[in-house]
Parts: sequence; structure tokens; C-alpha cells
Amino acid sequence: MHDPNALRSMHLARFHADPAICVAPGRVNLIGEHTDYAEGFVMPVAINFATLAAISPRTDGKIVIWAENYGEEKTFDAAAKPIASKHWSDYPMGVVAILAGEGHTIPGFSLSIWGDVPLGSGLSSSAALEVVTALAVLSLIGADYPRPVLARLCQRVENEFVGANCGIMDQFISANGKANHALLLDCRDLSFRLAPLPADVALVIANTMVKHSIAGGDYPTRRRESEAACAIINSHRGGVPFLRDATLEDLAKWGNEMEPKSFLRAKHVISEDLRTVAASEALLRGDMKEVGRLMAEAHISYSKDFEGSCAEADLMVDLANELPGLIGARLTGGGFGGCTVNLVEQDKADAFAEELGKRYAAKTGIKPEIHICHASDGAHRIS
Ligand code: ADP
Ligand code: MG
Repeated sequence: MHDPNALRSMHLARFHADPAICVAPGRVNLIGEHTDYAEGFVMPVAINFATLAAISPRTDGKIVIWAENYGEEKTFDAAAKPIASKHWSDYPMGVVAILAGEGHTIPGFSLSIWGDVPLGSGLSSSAALEVVTALAVLSLIGADYPRPVLARLCQRVENEFVGANCGIMDQFISANGKANHALLLDCRDLSFRLAPLPADVALVIANTMVKHSIAGGDYPTRRRESEAACAIINSHRGGVPFLRDATLEDLAKWGNEMEPKSFLRAKHVISEDLRTVAASEALLRGDMKEVGRLMAEAHISYSKDFEGSCAEADLMVDLANELPGLIGARLTGGGFGGCTVNLVEQDKADAFAEELGKRYAAKTGIKPEIHICHASDGAHRIS
């Protein structure tokens, strides 16, 4: 578990200064995949895996960052313009670069970071690191931003500094999540609505432990394919800058002009927006059966139409569907591996997790990591 007191002790021993401590959670997306960059809807949950940052000022003009997860320290000159280096330090230094670009003078500081969000598993350790660093640096310089603006700045870290073309979802939920709630986010105007998760429902996250990079099958390719379909619809009726603005009727009318793959990608994105809003409404009225049905439909769409899944993730979902207590299961995150998210009746969650792990290992020879999580609060300062 991420423990602020342990991080404080570590920071004190290393940097001989009492730090301020901030925390930002990872997330799991319940439904709404590859809709965020199309200005559509997503419904993520902040989880009880998080990244902590301890920060204290320095007088030597240096930025010194200790990453406990890597057992590595990096030093930078606070007065120099940060340059990306394909290293974990790109995330915190990207925050420094973006805040400096916003007109802040960033002084030297010591930063210790430590997280228990699994790295690179689709639970958004990168967004947690960006958001927690931004909170820590802002607390150091005595500045603040409304949370949606903070999320946008952190998205820019990932887009402009790290070079990952992600949407706003991860940073937004890490900054704005609420315990025991999912958050329906309109990625167009960043308006959001919280929907309660019932106390008798557990969030089981199952890591397939695989991450495929198939030729021509990655995240940017999918994004281009769906955007190509959008351009065709827009050329006919205008006012469709993003698939958010398109309808299934548009697709029926002009789909024959699209590359077959583009058509399928757009079909997923347009129908996923409808499912995501429907799922939030079902949550609000406590209709968990309908939430589960929409998750199952979303997985089939993600796997068959978007071709964003893989054999292992499809297997993990199929195995979950056979087990007692399951409400809904689907692959979550950017795709091609990573984690599935399962809503499970709370009193069956332990048995569900154990049996799912056993059956997946028996079929694949891979021992999966399975976590029983709960919806947690978004980023905040601890001390
Ligand atoms: P995800 O966001 O799904 O976990 P990414 O590839 O987007 O996967 O981000 C993972 C990367 O973020 C790591 O490889 C590392 O560079 C950085 N990172 C995340 N958490 C930490 C941490 N606690 N300490 C250092 N680097 C981290
Ligand atoms: Mg990430």
C-alpha cells in the first residue's frame, strides 16, 4: 500500500527536509473506450491504487527527483528548459515544462515519488504521476488551478512533452474522482456527473499481463481510422468535427464510402457513446443488470468492431462470464492487452477473483494479477 508516512520518512532521510505530501489515484474505465479523443463520453472510476509525491524546496537551483519504484535519482537544473528523454522523469519534468510555459517560475526542489499503481498496465500510472507532480509543484509555489484546468495541463504533459496522443480521461478522473462513485465525463466541455456505485458491488481488475504491439494495430492507427470515417460524414453534412457529433444513421448513409476498417472503428465509437450515457443513467437508478449488459455489449464492440482486444483479454472476459457473482466484464484501457474490469457482487468477489485467476492461468500458463478495488477520491494534498 502507498503509505504517506513511509514516504515522508524516505524523503527526510534522503533530502533532510520535511516535505508536503500529495496523492493522485490511478483509474479504471468502466465504459467508454476510445471515445475521449472523439469528444465523446467516458465513465471512469478513481481507484485505491495511487501515486504519492513528497516535495520540499532547495536552495541550490536544482530539481532532484527520486523514484522509489525505480530506485533511481535524477537531477536537473531548474533554470534550464526541460528536454524529454524517454525516461520516467519525462512525466514530472513535463509538468515543470508545462507550468513554466504557463508563466510560473519554478524554483529548485526535491521530489520523492512512489506509487502502487501497476506501471504500464492500463490503470494510468502516468496520469497519476502527472497529476500528483502538478499538485506538489503548485503547492510549492503557492499556486492553484480549478481541477478541470489542472487535468488539461497534465494531458498536455502527456501529449506535448512525453509524446503520447492520449485524451483527457485519465488526468481528469485522477484529479476529480470521488469515493464510491463513477464519473460520467463529457470530453467535449469537461462537464461531469457522478453516479454512485452500490456498496454491495466490487470492482475487480484483472491484469492479463500481456501488452501486444501488433503491426498496424496500435492506438494511433485506430485513432486515425476512426477519424477518417468522421471526415467522410463531415464532408456530407458538416458540423461533424468529431465522431461525438455523428449518428448511427450517418454511418448507415455514408458507410459505403469508408474503408471497411474505418467503418467498423466509427461504429464502435458512435455506439460506445450511446452505451456510456445509458450506463450512467442505469447506475443512477441502481439498475446494475443493465450496467452489466452494456459492459458486455461494449466488450464485444471493442473486440469485434474496434479490434482493440486480444486473445488473452477476450479469454479473461469469457472466463468471467462463466463465474457466479459477475454483473459485467470488459477490457478496459487503450487495448491490445492490459486489464479487464469486472463488476462483481461484493460477497462473491473473493471467490470470483481466485477462480478467475486459476482458470486464466490454466488456459494461458500466465499468472494474472487480480485486484479487488474500490472507488476512491481524486488527487489531494495530504499534509
Ligand atoms: P499506464 O499509464 O497505463 O500505467 P504508461 O506507459 O502510460 O502506462 O505509463 C507508465 C510510465 O509512467 C512508466 O513506464 C514510467 O515511466 C512512468 N511512471 C508511472 N508511475 C511512476 C512512478 N511511480 N515512478 C516513476 N515513473 C512512473
Ligand atoms: Mg498512461
